[in-house]
Formats: sequence, structure tokens, C-alpha cells
Amino acid sequence: MKSIKELDLQGQTVIVRVDFNVPMRDGTITDDSRIRAAIPTLEELANKACKVILLSHLGRPNKDTDNDGNIRKEKYSLRLISERLAELLPYPVTFCPENTGTQAQAATDKLTPSSFLLLENTRFAEGEKKNSAALAAEWKALANFYINDAFGTAHREHASTVALAEQFKPDRKAAGLLLNKEIIQGYKVLNDPMSPVVAIIGGSKVSDKIGLLEKMIDLADDIIIGGGMAYTFIAAQGGLVGNSILEEDYFELARKILNKANENDTKIHIPKDSVVADRFHRDAKTEVSTSREIRDNWMGLDIGPKAIEEFQKVILPAGTIIWNGPMGVFEMPPFAKGTDQVARAIADATSRGAYSLVGGGDSASAVKMLALSDRMSHISTGGGAMLTLLEGKPLPAIVALESS
Ligand code: AMP
Repeated sequence: MKSIKELDLQGQTVIVRVDFNVPMRDGTITDDSRIRAAIPTLEELANKACKVILLSHLGRPNKDTDNDGNIRKEKYSLRLISERLAELLPYPVTFCPENTGTQAQAATDKLTPSSFLLLENTRFAEGEKKNSAALAAEWKALANFYINDAFGTAHREHASTVALAEQFKPDRKAAGLLLNKEIIQGYKVLNDPMSPVVAIIGGSKVSDKIGLLEKMIDLADDIIIGGGMAYTFIAAQGGLVGNSILEEDYFELARKILNKANENDTKIHIPKDSVVADRFHRDAKTEVSTSREIRDNWMGLDIGPKAIEEFQKVILPAGTIIWNGPMGVFEMPPFAKGTDQVARAIADATSRGAYSLVGGGDSASAVKMLALSDRMSHISTGGGAMLTLLEGKPLPAIVALESS
């Protein structure tokens, strides 16, 4: 995969897939990190006097339609994002309310050197999620170079990430600076990690993290399992977990993972105690319980104080830390302490010289909420994409950038 620095882009018209899929609430952007993360690549192109066309998706408009089956376009429009981008970039930024056709062509024709045009949400085009070559050909006709800087969607096989890349020759396409950085950080952990390696895996479900768990058995010295998924492991070994979130279909697999780790000398740490609640609510009654003997009808919503202490002891001397998924329902203050304390332990280990990679999604939001971002080695902008990369699977957008 080429990097943007290897292409001769001076004065060229370039189409760039960025990831501007930012969280929005009531018509405002609540976190613009993903827009900011693309700025170095955009600056690089402006410095080379490029005319830049930007493509991004926002949300899942296809799943949010009105009674007549029409996408609620206003809610998923990139117009507000173009306004935010214009505040962040010292160059002209325009917005086109279409993403193909005569309007997109006319807006492209108006571009001057070092200016930017953001086309409307790629997912408004039917062919985007179908990886349509016809849709990609329409975008291809607008520019003579393609850059992908959207790490967050690198695991998706869509027209703007795969079909479009495939239509450009190898010397006409490359990874942007963000995509390149994410890939380098991910592979650094997979190929050349400092020992001991500690993987911290949390979140609600085992089923989403099987690939990661299996890969980490090969790679890590210690695997810490927290969050809702821990209860499937505990119940699979005969523990009583009350109403905690469970995936009974995965008991067998959970036992296999534990056996494999044992044979491989990888230590698995499962929370010995939990903060349990009488209902899934921030005002629920709570107490600390042994994780293997949770009362009937109560549920484990966070790791307990003994688990925190054990996990801190494992994390602090680590050489490499990989973190994906919260330790509890951190969105509710009574169940946020486990995630908070684990994040702090990772920050402390990083200050002592460990390399820490925080997978995107909820772990990245928790780190930001705790204002610990500057104390981690790398916080990924892509949850699903980083998960796929760490599982050792190919990312379709990268494969397409490498295709001839
Ligand atoms: P994931 O998307 O699989 O990484 O899961 C993240 C979600 O898991 C967060 O929204 C957490 O609230 C949730 N979660 C973490 N621990 C638990 C738990 N013990 N019970 C239920 N949900 C949990």
C-alpha cells in the first residue's frame, strides 16, 4: 500500500474518502475528533495545490426511513460537517447536496487549487453499500487520483472504499496519513510487541470478540476479560450469574477458549467480584458480590474492587497493552469505576514506558471522557476496523488500495 507522500500530486484533482461519521445530537456535532483526524492529510493536499473532493458517510440513513420508506435526509446530511470543516481549515470549503450527477460535476469544475468540496452522504446513493462499480465510476470521473484516509470504514466493502479504489491504477491511489498511521500502529502490536503483552477485552458480548480472543491467545501473556462478556465465561464454568447478560450458545466456545489459553500458557483473568444491581438502571440498588454467586434476579454491571486490584497488578508491568471494550456499563456512573480504574492503570503503565493501543468505539470514548487521551500511545479512530486488523484479518479497503 502506497502512502500519500509517495504520489506526485502537485496541482492534481484528488478524490478522498474520509471518515466524517461523527456523533451528532439534536443537529449539533458532539465530538469532532474524526474531522480533526483527517486534517493532516487535507493540509498535505492543500500544500500541493490540489483540488480536493471529499466523500464520507454519516450514520445509517438506510435504517432510518419515514412512513413512505424515504431516508430522513436532513438528519444525515453532511452540510453541518462541511461548516465545521470550514472552521478547521484555512482554505475554501464548499458543500454539494448531491453526491453524483451534474450538480457534483459542476461543483467539481468550480474547484480552485487548495480548495475542498464535500459531497453529500455516500450512503444516500443506493450503490454505496452494494460496492457498486457503476457508482464508483461516477466518482472516478471527477478526479485523477484517489486517497483513502477513512480507517473507520476500512473493514467495509463499499463503493467509496473498495470499488472506487479498484478503478484507479496503483500509481494513482494511496493511503492518507491517518489510515497509514493506524495500520502502522496496529501491525506494530501484532508483529513486534514489547513483552509482556496484556490484552484487555470487554464489552457486552463474547460473540463480537471471538476472533480477537483467539488471536490474543497466540499473542498475549495475559488476557483480562471484563464487561458483560465475562459472565458467559463464568456461567460456562458453572458459576451462578443471576440476570447478568449471557450468551448460552457460546458456553462451549468459552470453555474451548479457556482450555486453549491454558495449553498455551496464556493467563486469563476473569473478574472475581462484580458490582451487581437489582435492575439495569442508574438508580438501581447495588452491592458487591462474588462474580460466581450473584443473587437470583440481580445482574453484574461492573467489575468489583478485588477485580480492579488484580487487573491493575497485571496492567502496570506490561510492555504492550491492547484494550478493546469497557469493563462495565460505564455510561451509568454507578458502574463506571472499573472502566475508569483500568483506563488509569493503562495510562500509568504507558507513563512507565509501555505501548498502549486503545481500540476505537467505547474504550476510546471512555478515555476521552476521563481526559486520558494524551496518556495513551495510540487511540484508534476505528472500532470495527481496528478489531478486524487485530484479529489478523485483511481489511478490504487496504486490499483495494494494493490492487493493480
Ligand atoms: P461492545 O460494543 O460489545 O464493546 O460493548 C459495549 C457496551 O457493553 C457498552 O455500552 C456497555 O454498557 C456494555 N456493557 C459493559 N459491561 C456490561 C455488563 N456487565 N452488562 C451489560 N452491558 C455491559
